[in-house]
Amino acid sequence: MRIARVEPLTAARALRGPFDYLLPDGFPDVVVGTRLSVPFAGRKLEAVVTEVTGQSELPESRLAKPTKIVEPSIPEDLVAMALWMAGAYCSTPARALALVSPPGASSGVRARETLVAEITGAGSAALGGDGRLTEGQRLGLAELEAGPLRASDSSLGHQGLRRLEKRGLVVVRSDQLSRRPAPSTMDAGLVSPALNGEQLAALDPILEALDSVGTPAGFLLHGITGSGKTEVYIHAAERALEQGRGVIVLVPEIALTPQAVARFTARLGDTVAVLHSGLSMGERFDEWSRLRSGEARVCVGPRSAVFAPIDKLGLVIVDEEHESSYRNDGDPGYDARELASWRSEHWGAVLVAGSATPRPESVRRLARLRLDHRADGAQLPPVELLDMKGVKGVLHPKAVEALGVVRAERTKAIVLLNRRGWSNFLACQDCGRVWKCPQCDVSLVLHRSENRITCHHCGHSEAFPTKCSDCGSTSISRHGAGTERIEDELRRILGDESFPIFRLDADAASGKGEAERILGEFQRAPAGVLVGTQMVAKGHDFPDVTLGLVLDADSTLRFPDFRSEERTFQLVTQLAGRAGRGAKGGTVLVQTTSPEVDVLQLAAKHDSDGFLELELERRDGLGYPPAVALVRVFCGSADVDALDRIADGLVEHIEATGIEVLGPAPLFRLKGRERRQLVARSPDRERLVAAVDSAISAHAADASKSAVVIGTEVDAG
Ligand code: ADP
Ligand code: ZN
Ligand code: ZN
Repeated sequence: MRIARVEPLTAARALRGPFDYLLPDGFPDVVVGTRLSVPFAGRKLEAVVTEVTGQSELPESRLAKPTKIVEPSIPEDLVAMALWMAGAYCSTPARALALVSPPGASSGVRARETLVAEITGAGSAALGGDGRLTEGQRLGLAELEAGPLRASDSSLGHQGLRRLEKRGLVVVRSDQLSRRPAPSTMDAGLVSPALNGEQLAALDPILEALDSVGTPAGFLLHGITGSGKTEVYIHAAERALEQGRGVIVLVPEIALTPQAVARFTARLGDTVAVLHSGLSMGERFDEWSRLRSGEARVCVGPRSAVFAPIDKLGLVIVDEEHESSYRNDGDPGYDARELASWRSEHWGAVLVAGSATPRPESVRRLARLRLDHRADGAQLPPVELLDMKGVKGVLHPKAVEALGVVRAERTKAIVLLNRRGWSNFLACQDCGRVWKCPQCDVSLVLHRSENRITCHHCGHSEAFPTKCSDCGSTSISRHGAGTERIEDELRRILGDESFPIFRLDADAASGKGEAERILGEFQRAPAGVLVGTQMVAKGHDFPDVTLGLVLDADSTLRFPDFRSEERTFQLVTQLAGRAGRGAKGGTVLVQTTSPEVDVLQLAAKHDSDGFLELELERRDGLGYPPAVALVRVFCGSADVDALDRIADGLVEHIEATGIEVLGPAPLFRLKGRERRQLVARSPDRERLVAAVDSAISAHAADASKSAVVIGTEVDAG
């Protein structure tokens, strides 16, 4: 008896496998990772084989049989990783397996056969003189005379082509077409510089680790901004490829790091596949297949690229490892950095995580390699903190002056304000009414270009009010400033034809390819300003930026989260890293109402060691990761009684296992749902996750009946 043990791919938590299916005689070969179509409770479901065995607890007569095999299969190691992930992030095997499945698998995306039309000799002759062609046919043949075309691109259409084919004037053949994503338009800087001494010294242990094939190793490449980390990654990748091993390169967000992607693809060549959500499902499927077949050996992409089907993995690179986009918001709430580490350990691969502002946990976990100097020999720009106490307006006089110098000297500036829109909130000057989202407990943000006020959490939007709906007053004041207003202000004081102001934030870059277009325009402009949210502080490398300006540096510090210090330090340091990369040098100004705060003082001195030391001490003292593991559980519902019942139930259940729980604490109402959060922590991550998982499972039925949504977020210790 051959049994396939499978997990059906369904989002329902209650339907948890594994389930056994009998493989009848003559059924094709089935291994771990084979995808099967199986009958399940009267439906047909797709399922993934997690084990092939000779026995089942059920008698043979009660076992159903799979209908068929669905190609392509999932590599066995990815099935193992998915099952581990399901447990480690309090999720289900089905949800985790869906992440390692081929893109679009469930929606029926397959390799695509395309019809290609070509003109024949007779066709060319006909075009030369045969009077029996209609005007349309003549045009269609003329198109083909220039070269073969996809049938769908021909003006004749399929029908028209078939008609001409019958007359022998064209041939239509079937061709498998690989849907390759369009290459980036960013300037990649193709030249490969000779590595400097520091880079060589950092590369050496990485190469050594690669050469002792089969032994996993993990490195943290702690290199200041502009120190040339990318070159080190590329040399390591080249060695892995020489060894016949595959490479994964994780980048934070593909739309915001077109330069990094362009560098990797340009230097490593056709063996690179790019996987990200900006591609069509067909493109993703084809890139996945190129990796699965071994035609491509390098995958560059955001967090989901950690699931790339690469055989004989040799190297995993995590660029800008401090970026929060490596964490998935959905279920499972996986952390790609942790999965990268899992994969490299299980594959004997080498992990290289790099950043100018590494996370405290990486400093503790990985062997640190350093690049302390900029690759071009330039100094890091001096950083000055500007005290905004008592300053009227959004710009400090010194900031205005510095911007004026940029304009006069025809260089570039980057201005960061981590808040989009025009102003944060509207208030009635007579009765004090504040305009809030009807769904969420947050104020609505004015977007003046649309003349609307919008909720940044649920997208609710309404027309800008002309009068107060409570007292009828028409005196409505706007408070605070967002990127839209700063853009306007900068244009007013600086802008003219030759000094453009670009804005980059979620509003300006909402369309596909918009972020790359804005970054490209800023790169090509001879002078100007780029203003935006944290998007402007990513790993961009523009040599002519001489001023970095951070507005409201304390905004991230006000966030009630144990990572708020870390985020603030990173943001200021990363923005500083964009400035002064060229021969003209640069300066950085940071506007704040609390210039005395440690984090800002350390950032101003570029002292990341000092910051890491202080932060690790603080985390250890307060019991935050990496000292302990921490799981946050979020519950949300429109039904407050059910919500409280379940939140309290979860706390009780987890506490009963002897694990410490804080909460439940209320969170602000979101999308019409009241919310509660509880935080469980323990030095023993496995026990912690198991306790939370069992608590959620115990309440799953009640939660689904009473429409309470439960989500988790794991911060590994
Ligand atoms: P990081 O990722 O560390 O911020 P980059 O990899 O973007 O730094 O490199 C910064 C700049 O220095 C890039 O323009 C890169 O081409 C250049 N560079 C890197 N290594 C060298 C080198 N050895 N010599 C000269 N220039 C280099
Ligand atoms: Zn009013
Ligand atoms: Zn809302």
